[in-house]
Amino acid sequence: MGDTQQIIEKPNVVNPRTALCTVGEELGDIFRANGVDEAKMGLRTSLTKKEKLTDNQIKRACRLLNQGESLATYLRNFQKEYERKSKLASAAYKKAKKNYARLKGVLPLLKNEFEDGLDRLDDILDFFGVDSEEEVFAGADSAAALFRKQNNVRVDPVNLKAWLRRGELDFQKMNIGEYDAQALRKWIEGREWQRIIDSADDFLKLPEKLMEFGVALVFVPFIPRTVYGAVRWFDGKPLVQVSDRDKDLATCWFTLFHELGHVLLHHNEEILDGELNDKGGNTRRKEKEANKFANEILFNGDNLRKEVFSRSHDTLSASYLAAKYDVPRLLASYWLIKAQYQPYFQVRKQVDFALFYQ
Ligand SMILES: [Zn+2]
Repeated sequence: MGDTQQIIEKPNVVNPRTALCTVGEELGDIFRANGVDEAKMGLRTSLTKKEKLTDNQIKRACRLLNQGESLATYLRNFQKEYERKSKLASAAYKKAKKNYARLKGVLPLLKNEFEDGLDRLDDILDFFGVDSEEEVFAGADSAAALFRKQNNVRVDPVNLKAWLRRGELDFQKMNIGEYDAQALRKWIEGREWQRIIDSADDFLKLPEKLMEFGVALVFVPFIPRTVYGAVRWFDGKPLVQVSDRDKDLATCWFTLFHELGHVLLHHNEEILDGELNDKGGNTRRKEKEANKFANEILFNGDNLRKEVFSRSHDTLSASYLAAKYDVPRLLASYWLIKAQYQPYFQVRKQVDFALFYQ
């Protein structure tokens, strides 16, 4: 090996059977304790690996150790018990592997913070703060039930639970003061944020700013079949989670203001947003209110969107819309992109929360 460091991969799931002591190992210990050379057994394979001894082998061991029926009974019971435990262990292993397959998608969200487990499955349980996979699945089902009540799209319950859990863990690390709705509203309406609208780097620094108003803003990378954003409340403090779904800065701004709308308008209510600005007839009241809030702040109302979707012009540029509606160009493009309006001419700004997870 030289001085090359060998990196030992942690197993996904440890087979509990490997921890069981075989009758051969047990007998080997007895031989050693009595100063008897196990080679006298005359076995062709190693004694340690023996999961079962024949009657003749047991008799031979008793003779070598000068023992009678009591050792023979002990060894027979030992291997019977081993067989029972081994069957249970195999079943547990099979089940754990199946559970791991359902859970492994959340591994990147562990952010290398959970590494003390025997195997990766253990690390995942530590991340969720539970003792069994069943607890994860039960918690996931209740989050998914709330999601379905609020959304019309499909969800992956385990992914959603993990995405939310990541937010809680980051929230616990933040030192958030009292929530101040007035100060939050003042900052939003003061439009100081418009100066940094084009900068993904500055967007990523917003959590520091929002902490001043007792709002916890956490960016968690999108994982499949989860949400654009969420708002939950802990001890009267809002936890706002935004995902980088679409990897688009303008979309992130929209999600942020949509969620801040929920914070200001729907105090203490838990919201999971699987869709955004969905103009379908099924949009619930609270969603309409949060969309209206975001549209008012970001686009000075709904007319820009209407003009884009009416397609009354053969060409529509972001600059034209920006000037007409007094909005930043990046935000004017948001609707042009949504409407697939001359897509080759629309400029997107990339944003990627995975940067924090490398
Ligand atoms: Zn919403």
